[in-house]
Amino acid sequence: MQTTPSGLEAVRTRIADACRAAGRDPAGGTLVAVSKQHPAEAVRALAGQGQRDFGENYVNEAVDKIRALADLELCWHFMGPLQSNKTRDVAAHFDWVHSVDRARVARRLSEQRPSGMDPLNVCIQINSDGEPDKSGVDPDGARELAELVQALPGLRLRGLMAIPRADAADRNRAAFRNLAMTLSHWRSTMPELDALSMGMSGDYDVAIEEGATLIRLGTALFGARG
Ligand SMILES: *Cc1c(COP(=O)(O)O)cnc(C)c1O
Repeated sequence: MQTTPSGLEAVRTRIADACRAAGRDPAGGTLVAVSKQHPAEAVRALAGQGQRDFGENYVNEAVDKIRALADLELCWHFMGPLQSNKTRDVAAHFDWVHSVDRARVARRLSEQRPSGMDPLNVCIQINSDGEPDKSGVDPDGARELAELVQALPGLRLRGLMAIPRADAADRNRAAFRNLAMTLSHWRSTMPELDALSMGMSGDYDVAIEEGATLIRLGTALFGARG
């Protein structure tokens, strides 16, 4: 008799397969379970199966969940649009921010990072489709922002993030490839950069083939949101 693998097992298998197919170490990608709009109990259940990294988009919702789950020692990633008036909560409660796209937000996160904590890990979010209404820094301004982040004591620059238009995985490949190329250029002067946050439930195989190290999955793990 065959047992159906849980969502988490199935996703882990698919990530490992995609890594192997791309000639990468199957353990090379970190799965970030995006738990926005799902309750703390759902996070606890997944944590019970060994999942450690979780992602959130909405600051208030996230802080409630992080407090409710403080006994679990999870690693929390913020990846939503970030207003200046919310930076304090993010700086105090998260381990990573994937969505830094403005100097003002970067400066505030650094100033507000509590002194007893390690520097906040940061990815610069690039607006890879060049759509004016989307989050992310314009590709031309990304390098300047990266240099600013690198100089801020409360932050540790790790790499890049993008959310390409969610139409077709194959069309997203070019955006993923561009992001990987940008990181590779930056690494010639900033060799410590090691993070490429790209790939969601609809396109993560392609993102892994193009070098993703942080794979942000919600629907594939938790089912549809509300
Ligand atoms: C919601 C969200 C995800 C997860 O999306 P799914 O399609 O449900 O996997 C990933 N990244 C970001 C930035 C998100 O906001």
